[in-house]
Amino acid sequence: MGLFSLNAPKIKVQMTKRDGYSGWVKCTQCHEMVHANELENNDHCCPKCEYHYRLGAKQRLDLLLDQGSFSELFGNIKSTDPLGFVDSKPYSKRLEEAEEKAENNEAVVVGVGKVKKLEVAIAVLDFSFMAGSMGSVVGERITRIIELAIEKKLPVVIVSASGGARMQESVLSLMQMAKTSAALAKLHEKGLPYISILTNPTTGGVTASFASLGDINIAEPDALIAFAGPRVVEQTIGQKLPEGAQRSEFLLEKGMIDAIVSRHELKEKLFYFLDFLSPKREKLEENDETEA
Ligand SMILES: [Zn+2]
Repeated sequence: MGLFSLNAPKIKVQMTKRDGYSGWVKCTQCHEMVHANELENNDHCCPKCEYHYRLGAKQRLDLLLDQGSFSELFGNIKSTDPLGFVDSKPYSKRLEEAEEKAENNEAVVVGVGKVKKLEVAIAVLDFSFMAGSMGSVVGERITRIIELAIEKKLPVVIVSASGGARMQESVLSLMQMAKTSAALAKLHEKGLPYISILTNPTTGGVTASFASLGDINIAEPDALIAFAGPRVVEQTIGQKLPEGAQRSEFLLEKGMIDAIVSRHELKEKLFYFLDFLSPKREKLEENDETEA
């Protein structure tokens, strides 16, 4: 190895047996050194600057649901490659690789669980599986869990983290926007609440469908929430976007979202909103019936 080899690490770091990497990481936001354990104990937020790091579906479910209350559903619905799509590699190969790398077999995990003893139907997108992109299976699993919620009269919670529609499924992927939105409209007709939680990043067809349709739309702080990226928008409208235009704080100011909630308070606030929206509506319905 030469003195100036590009591949040589600049600093030798102590490796831990557990993960094979040093316990110390540099925060990408504030550039402070933080220990992985500290990060983990702080809900994967930087202890120095509170930057919210991305969570996998399982971590998110652990954060929001009562311990051991989650049962996964529709996990057997798997992606096929109906278009035989090939870009730099075949879609089927990409799916295989994604499944090996990620904890889940698709970009969404759905099921039922409890938030402080209140039963909910929940879907969580996982960015680590093909950038949380929405293909037919993501759309189908989300639609089915909404339909189950209608059948069992449960509120729905969807946590989004997505690069948008899955281009390898072309128009089939775009159709999921309409399908999930139609299912949510039915849920709404039944007077059942839907809370959408938008996390960093939520973009494209997911932002343009179910992620924006909550009775209450909650975002994590400083999350990128957009339809198209800034460069595409700027090229289209021929103008520079204002500072922070696609972040939670800006969107709250403009009324696109209803609340920004820190991850540490997310479960508490989620319960507050669910409790606020669910039982009272049921009571109202009962009253209607007795009056009629
Ligand atoms: Zn930081």
